[in-house]
Amino acid sequence: MEGRSERLLFHFAFLILDYFMMKCPNCSKPVEWQDNPHRPFCSERCKLIDFGRWADEEYRVPAEPAPVANEDERSTVRDEEEP
Ligand SMILES: [Zn+2]
Repeated sequence: MEGRSERLLFHFAFLILDYFMMKCPNCSKPVEWQDNPHRPFCSERCKLIDFGRWADEEYRVPAEPAPVANEDERSTVRDEEEP
């Protein structure tokens, strides 16, 4: 009986530790939660990297397809084929 409750205590200790020792979403390093202005990131660098990744994806979506350029390409190829 005693051994089991000890193990439970150990288990809860780890759960609590896990709760307070959050991991950085960018580099998975343990993050200090108290007095950390960059949480949930471990540092300002990781925060900026993650933010940059988000901004990158947002910029990429509307800028991708450009089907108008195809017609221009075709006409230049035709010009080149003429001797
Ligand atoms: Zn980090």
